[in-house]
Amino acid sequence: MSEPIHLKSAHSLRDAIRAKEISAREAAEAYLDHIDAVDGDVRAYTDVWREPALARADAIDSQLAKGEDAGPLAGVPIGLKDLICTTEGTTACCSELLKGFRSPYDATVAEKLYAAGTVVLGKLNMDEFAMGSSTENSSVVTTRNPWNLDCVPGGSSGGSAAAVSAHECAISLGSDTGGSIRQPAACCGCVGMKPTYGRVSRYGLVAFASSLDQIGPFSRDVEDCALTLNTICGHDRRDSTSANLEVPDFTTSLTGDVKGVRVGLPKEYFTDALGVEIRAKIDSAVKVLESCGAEVVEVSLPHTEYAVATYYIICTAEASANLARFDGVRYGNRAPDTQSPEEMYKKTKSAGFGAEVQRRILLGTYVLSSGYYDAYYLKAQKVRTLIKQDFDAAFEKCDVIVTPTTPTPAFRIGEKSDDPLSMYLSDIYTISANLGGNPAISLPCGLTESGLPAGLQIIGRPFEEGAVLQSAYAFEQNSGIDLGVPTAIAESVS
Ligand code: GLN
Repeated sequence: MSEPIHLKSAHSLRDAIRAKEISAREAAEAYLDHIDAVDGDVRAYTDVWREPALARADAIDSQLAKGEDAGPLAGVPIGLKDLICTTEGTTACCSELLKGFRSPYDATVAEKLYAAGTVVLGKLNMDEFAMGSSTENSSVVTTRNPWNLDCVPGGSSGGSAAAVSAHECAISLGSDTGGSIRQPAACCGCVGMKPTYGRVSRYGLVAFASSLDQIGPFSRDVEDCALTLNTICGHDRRDSTSANLEVPDFTTSLTGDVKGVRVGLPKEYFTDALGVEIRAKIDSAVKVLESCGAEVVEVSLPHTEYAVATYYIICTAEASANLARFDGVRYGNRAPDTQSPEEMYKKTKSAGFGAEVQRRILLGTYVLSSGYYDAYYLKAQKVRTLIKQDFDAAFEKCDVIVTPTTPTPAFRIGEKSDDPLSMYLSDIYTISANLGGNPAISLPCGLTESGLPAGLQIIGRPFEEGAVLQSAYAFEQNSGIDLGVPTAIAESVS
């Protein structure tokens, strides 16, 4: 019997659709049926667009029947994190405050993916306004880890990671402000990449912390990641921070070869904070790269210990400004029966925002307030520069930096919900790349004793996504690691 459609990678599915072995409609139906079978357990989707997806698949099929070029990802079923604006369905950032919000326009990434021929299956769960590391802050539902339904999928893009890992879409998009693509990718055993800040347009991405936010792909292999980057990267005059640079064909970096590539291991990342099991996986991963001809060097990122604190000052400051617009007047659901504007603002925000979002707004307002601005916000900006300079100095000695993505595998649902600090530390290895603006990928590097995925992070120089993908692909092709179908959904897949 041939391989079920939803087990194929995006590129092999695309090839089969192009060769007319499978129709785009069959592909969409296979995925939609699989969502029906497993999403009751996984809960990755907040909204499934069955009819629009089938209509779109039919349109792709008729384009192909006429011999037209339907795009480089024609017929590939995908999902989008609930903070990417789409005119189809709603864009609610998994917040009560924005529940039911219909965007009047499509995000640039959504436009580009439509133009590439993808079929969007729906919107994916996330922590409210992308604040969190577990999806437990979603106002809709908590997504489950497809490897163990009692564990979190990571976050904030937990729905995007779980959906790809559970084969509920071939590719998805998420956003990464401090690790929200790489950390859930590591927890769910898939590939997730944060491109360089400025590489992908943020137009139509609901902003959390504008100087850190980047959109990026989740996929089941590195080739699909490169293909998606080819589609979503590029200059956009509607985003003033978008880089006006040529976008290379990222698939040309997938040579399988890393001879002479200098791999830097930052000594500050390999301390007692790193769990022994994850450490062992990273050590073996480094050996694989070495056996493929890479040269391993020790590097130092001396300001690493300040990264989490710096991040939580900058991201909360920016969030407090960005979220001011959700006031029930310009945007969002207004609380009923209020007597004055002040009461209306208060009630709208208290009822509409969850506890974590309120905590961030309060923290951010505090660090920006007069008298504290210099001590916190300005200082954090200076430390951010030091962290960026650490990367610049390290990249004089190496071409890519290799680290764990997370200190531990996915934790149990509820385990950290009452302890924000321990939740914040889930991103200890991912945050620096956001502060520095560097591209970084996470890819699977094995399963722990308890059957949970571990993630390998590869960081590159700004705008050198190609170098990151080159090392990632060489590792994927030579490590012999293929996690296969997640255990918790294996029965429904066969
Ligand atoms: N977990 C981090 C936070 O809560 C990162 C979130 C993100 O990257 N969007 O802020």
